[in-house]
Amino acid sequence: MPIQLFVPSFRIDECLAGIRVCLEKGWTGLGFKTVEFEDAWKKYAELPHAHFLSSNTVGLHLALHVLKSRFGWADDDEVITTPFTFVSTNHAILHSRLRPVFADLDEFLCLDPSSVAARITPRTRAVMFVGIGGNTGQYDKIVDLCQQRGLKLILDAAHMAGTRTGGRQVGPEPDAVVFSFQAVKNLPTADSGMICFKDQEDDERARKLSWLGINKDTYARTAAQGAYKWMYDVEEVGFKYHGNSIMASIALVQLKWLDQDNSYRRQLAAWYRARLAGHDSVRVVEVAPGCESATHLFQVRVERRDAVMLALNEHQVYPGVHYRDNTEYRMYSYANGSCPNAARASSDIISLPLHMNLARNDVNMVSDLLIRYTK
Ligand SMILES: *Cc1c(COP(=O)(O)O)cnc(C)c1O
Repeated sequence: MPIQLFVPSFRIDECLAGIRVCLEKGWTGLGFKTVEFEDAWKKYAELPHAHFLSSNTVGLHLALHVLKSRFGWADDDEVITTPFTFVSTNHAILHSRLRPVFADLDEFLCLDPSSVAARITPRTRAVMFVGIGGNTGQYDKIVDLCQQRGLKLILDAAHMAGTRTGGRQVGPEPDAVVFSFQAVKNLPTADSGMICFKDQEDDERARKLSWLGINKDTYARTAAQGAYKWMYDVEEVGFKYHGNSIMASIALVQLKWLDQDNSYRRQLAAWYRARLAGHDSVRVVEVAPGCESATHLFQVRVERRDAVMLALNEHQVYPGVHYRDNTEYRMYSYANGSCPNAARASSDIISLPLHMNLARNDVNMVSDLLIRYTK
């Protein structure tokens, strides 16, 4: 049996039962299950607002769009961001007609607060922080820095569903926290995400904007008995970004298992650490102190990474690379060379297989291969 990087697991009968309710009711779109999941997520994530979207990518764009217009940022104002992420993070900045300014990484592969501080200019408006693999890195210092310097903070929490720090969930400090429930994330649906604004007015505006600028959702209109349902207003140009009840049905089931799944992920990580201990050729990326990571990824750093990957593939083991330094891509190449730590990580990082179907002997087998081919 090949060992893949990610294999999502679904509680199939329960998911199908939830979807069936939507189909029977004839309500698959916005409202109904999306409202139920938003309420469940607010409770789980300990955040005051949550709006269900079709992906994390659109949520990152919405976060910047809302903050940019609320605070009157100009085109080409700057957002300090990481080069070590999925391109969604940085595309969202460009979609908002803002400028990504790349800062370098710390040993956790998250933004290094001192590098962020060094890149603040009079045009800096916000910082985009990514908790790589579920790790909080030096998130607390970034929160303090943003407060001191009057910068907005957006947390790309695509890997952080269930991450806790100091015993509580991440947030509520950022102006917006954006989660992903894409097919291979810790809470897999097919595609969906959640945006959690700190301020109620941003949450209300995001709800309008995610449905084309219409000021009332269909569910509220249908539920409003006797009201003139067709009499909605369109207050500004919005987007088609909201989530639907089919995805929310899956998410509601998956949420019940999230903490249990995450603790098995931490168990797998502990088994990897134990087996790899004492082998200097494989350097494990550590979790920040005080962070109970959702452990979306288990990452190690090795010399001759590409050759090692191919050697593992020969044994039907298929690890991944998260991420390549985004400044290696043509469209962000204006910043190439500005983040040496990210450039190094880009060439030596490996994400080892991590999912619910793995057992301890799989972890040992993958670890032993890694040790053998990095000697
Ligand atoms: C997966 C991912 C995204 C995008 O999430 P979608 O829900 O697929 O849009 C953004 N940022 C990071 C770090 C991711 O891993």
